[in-house]
Amino acid sequence: MPTGSPLREDDVEKGRILSITYQPRARYNWATGVAIGRFLAELKAGRILGTKCNHCGRIVVPPRVFCELCFRRVDDWVHLPDTATVNTFSISHIATDTKRLKTPIVPAVIEIDGTSHAGFLHLLGEVSPQKITIGMRVKAVWKEPTQRMGSITDIKYFAPLA
Ligand SMILES: [Zn+2]
Repeated sequence: MPTGSPLREDDVEKGRILSITYQPRARYNWATGVAIGRFLAELKAGRILGTKCNHCGRIVVPPRVFCELCFRRVDDWVHLPDTATVNTFSISHIATDTKRLKTPIVPAVIEIDGTSHAGFLHLLGEVSPQKITIGMRVKAVWKEPTQRMGSITDIKYFAPLA
């Protein structure tokens, strides 16, 4: 019965085994769906879009085509202001790629004015982390129109209302 021997690191380094190195070109598309697709298109135009359920009266952002409380289709698309309230926040010294940051970022749940306790996660800016409070009033700081690409990052961050 044949016996094997474990591979050693220098077996790989010295080419004693077959190995292949290549850069995969992993291109893909991601379907946003109706509601998020319209939301992102409106962001590119500098507007925040939500949806309203006339049964329970809730207005939510990001928009959904379905009210998960009433279990029915929503009724209206509504434009919302870009002013909001900080619902909660965190001071992070670690970036999204897990690298340590010298200057912390402040992810926060942003509750857009006119919505029904519905918010999304974004960043706070132009404010010292020590001065941020839950309930703080903020306003979107948008990228220049030519820089927008139909992404949540078309809003650079939310800054305190002056
Ligand atoms: Zn509803």
